[in-house]
Amino acid sequence: METSIRRQTRALTRRAAWLLLVASLPLLLLIVGLGILQYVEQRRILLGDIARQTEDRHTALAALLAAPVDHLARLKAFMEERLADDIGRGPTPFRRFLRYEAPVIGATRMGGFYTDHLRADPSSDFGFVLADAKLIETLGPGYDEFDAALDLIEPMRLGHLTSPYLQWSYYFSQGRQFVVIYPGATAAETLATSVAAGGHDVRTLLASWNEYDLFKLGTPRADPERKPYWTGVYVDAAGAGRMVTHATPIYRQDRFLGIVATDITLGMFAQLLQHLAQTPGTVAITNAQGQVLAARNAVTGDTSAPEGLSSLLPPELATRPTVEVLAPSEGFRRIDGTYILARRAAAEPFWLIHFVSETELLRQLLPRFAPVGLILLSLLVTLAVAIILLGRHLVRPGLMLVRHIQAEAQNEAPPAARVPPAMWRPWFDAVSRAFASVRLYQKRLEASEAEYRAVVETQTEFVVRFLPDNRVLFANEAYCRHIGIPREVLLGAFANEYVQVEPSDLVRLRGNIAALTPERPTSRTELRVTMPGGRVGYEEWTDTGIFDDEGKLVATQAVGRDLTERKATALALERQREALHQSEKLAALGSMLAGVAHELNNPLSVVIGYSGMLTDLAESEAMRDRAAHVQAAAERCARIVKAFLAMARAKPVERRRVVLAEVLDDALTLSSYGLRTHSVTVDNALPGDLPPVNADRDQLHQVFLNLIVNAQHALAVVPGPRRIRITGHAEAGVVVVAIADNGPGMDAEVQRRAFEPFFTTKPQGMGTGIGLAVSRGIVEAHGGSLTLASSIGQGASFTIRLPTAPSAQLPDAGACEPLPPRSLSGQVLVVDDEEELAELIAERLAADGLEIDIATSGAAAVELIRSRAYDVLITDLRMPDMDGSQLIAEVERIAPALLHRSIVITGDALGPELDATMTDRRLPVLEKPLDFDALRGAVRRLLRPDGPEGALADMPEEAAP
Ligand code: ADP
Repeated sequence: METSIRRQTRALTRRAAWLLLVASLPLLLLIVGLGILQYVEQRRILLGDIARQTEDRHTALAALLAAPVDHLARLKAFMEERLADDIGRGPTPFRRFLRYEAPVIGATRMGGFYTDHLRADPSSDFGFVLADAKLIETLGPGYDEFDAALDLIEPMRLGHLTSPYLQWSYYFSQGRQFVVIYPGATAAETLATSVAAGGHDVRTLLASWNEYDLFKLGTPRADPERKPYWTGVYVDAAGAGRMVTHATPIYRQDRFLGIVATDITLGMFAQLLQHLAQTPGTVAITNAQGQVLAARNAVTGDTSAPEGLSSLLPPELATRPTVEVLAPSEGFRRIDGTYILARRAAAEPFWLIHFVSETELLRQLLPRFAPVGLILLSLLVTLAVAIILLGRHLVRPGLMLVRHIQAEAQNEAPPAARVPPAMWRPWFDAVSRAFASVRLYQKRLEASEAEYRAVVETQTEFVVRFLPDNRVLFANEAYCRHIGIPREVLLGAFANEYVQVEPSDLVRLRGNIAALTPERPTSRTELRVTMPGGRVGYEEWTDTGIFDDEGKLVATQAVGRDLTERKATALALERQREALHQSEKLAALGSMLAGVAHELNNPLSVVIGYSGMLTDLAESEAMRDRAAHVQAAAERCARIVKAFLAMARAKPVERRRVVLAEVLDDALTLSSYGLRTHSVTVDNALPGDLPPVNADRDQLHQVFLNLIVNAQHALAVVPGPRRIRITGHAEAGVVVVAIADNGPGMDAEVQRRAFEPFFTTKPQGMGTGIGLAVSRGIVEAHGGSLTLASSIGQGASFTIRLPTAPSAQLPDAGACEPLPPRSLSGQVLVVDDEEELAELIAERLAADGLEIDIATSGAAAVELIRSRAYDVLITDLRMPDMDGSQLIAEVERIAPALLHRSIVITGDALGPELDATMTDRRLPVLEKPLDFDALRGAVRRLLRPDGPEGALADMPEEAAP
């Protein structure tokens, strides 16, 4: 962290430095520009100064050269004047000083005239004369060239006295017979060098001297204008060093006689330069040939003059022709980066040349720029200090602040970097405070968000928000659960991707949403939708438009609820209402049927009774047969009536030993009409000897009837043959009955729901959906089960399993086996308001040998009971004035013994007429139409020797509850 801050600080500081530099660039440029301007100006001034000094030097040089020039001019003038003025002049007195000598120099004897002897006086500076011996011999008495030359010694001496730079002055005769040289030197010295150069006598020596440049330049061919001239630089043969010679030819009357010359050592020039003021660069004096006579370098202080100018010049200039370099100019010229100023010394072929390089100028001028440099330096220092301070006090703390903000933003602990400078502390604190309050606010926001979310999420209502293009912006958990799509899948998806809305509903919904306005932002739509799994449901939605400032719909907030269950409930309720209606209709029908049946009972009982009697009493077989037919038909009618009554009756559950085959027969009888008209063949293979079950016969009847009617209904939709097969068997304690049809069968869904109450696939009015539910309820209440096996096109098979009755149980009271006729004795009172029936009962019982009285009302019966002791009382239940139960109550009072020898006959299966009077006293009850055998059996049991108590003990419990 710390190092990264340091790194970033460096990078930023560098950047800042760069920016600062760029920012201060104009100032820098200004300073530098001013500096350059100043420099140029200073350089100009400096060069001007130098040029002026060069001018002075030039004057000095001219002055310096004036000495030898004047000296030579004087010598020439003197010589020419003497030569012109020699007439009448006798030989010069100097001749006296000449002496013939013949010194041996080296190996050569050099005979000639010398003035060496004059040198005995060391202070004498007498000139040196060397003359050929023959010359002297030829000298006449008159004044001649030789005399004039000798006379020159005096002006030479005078000249040398005034100008210390004159090395030698001399006269060389072109006749090669003598030389005159001032100042004097010994012959030995002078000759030695000459001999070394090849001279072997004075004459050849002189001849060799005349071969020198300094002489040759003066010959008429070389100097036709007879002007004074200068030689180049050469090294003095006498050892005086390097020098130049100024010489001029001497003519007499157009005849070239010789030359006068004077030698100047280069030291003269050197001294001149030496004594001049110092200026930058190099000052040199050169001649026309480009030879350097003297030079001085201001920097090195070097005064040694090289041979050639080129070796003095900077390399770029060295290759340039000397003429170009020496071209005179007013001021400095700049050639190849070097400033050059060359001035010719008046008429003489000498140049004062000054050259100075830019570097030297700069070096010279630099000190003058100290203020500018100082300003520049201080600016740079200021910049550097600014950058350091910037880095330390702004960039670094700034970065630390950024880090601090980052850390705060990421909710980390602030970096344990160095403590920020005090000046920055408030900023850091402000940031911390700001973030702390943001965090606090955020926490509150989160809490409120969570609360809000919880409100939305714990809703059982659906909350969904849609964009105008139908994409889902938000959906709460309840809705996601409802459609079974995870929220992350749903969000952003199009609403109709997962849920299909019934097209007509969709049109309505779209219309409703399109009609939303800021003024009427809410609409309600009910939709039928198909969920992702194919499940169909109903939903109710309240859509609320969310509008922007311009009233444009930006989203729709929809709150919905699932109506499917409510709809189903409403449907079920409707069905139940229908079923209730049906069952009310049935009840009404039942009670009407019961009334009809009740009315039919008595006549039917009469038909059955008399037909039975006719059968018994028939005299011929044919008659008996017919009577039997009548009886069978009447009994069938009776069974139908009974079945009706059983169905319509709401009587308490009555468990008895029931033989299923009989119950099935009854059910088949009741449905035989429908089966027949629908061409359904019933294959009844239920064994008659199955163990009986302990059950409510009527309820089982209802179960069988339901299953048969369902099968018949199902078979109606298949072409045929239509078949119902009923099978059965007994297994460990259970009787199994299966009713199967070859109808259309059921799909899995219908099978699953078939036993649901009110589930039906049949059209309204046809089915109620309670048949199977009730049937299963009945079978299960009997401790059994009702199951279903089916598949589409393979028919349906319903299986009933019922536990068998315990063996101790008595068979159905009404199903006693017929008793063999046997003579009985006893007094029996039959009470029935239907006289016919009463008489029939009397007649049938009388056949058994009993004594019968008849009473057609309760009052009459009471009368009779009071007057006589009866053994058995048989009474109808429903009678005008005193009914059966009142009668029984009265009997209990007036003849308690008869109470337990009473049999009740009822033709009304509907009302709970068997009131407490009968049920408490456990009296046998027989239903109309009467089964006379059963009646006779009951009477017989009451008349048993063990009395009515024995008979009571034999009665099944349920029969007399
Ligand atoms: P309902 O007969 O009034 O419709 P149920 O409870 O008796 O009521 O029967 C429920 C449903 O079971 C019927 O609507 C029918 O679809 C189906 N079902 C019952 N029995 C059969 C059968 N034998 N074959 C085919 N479908 C049957």
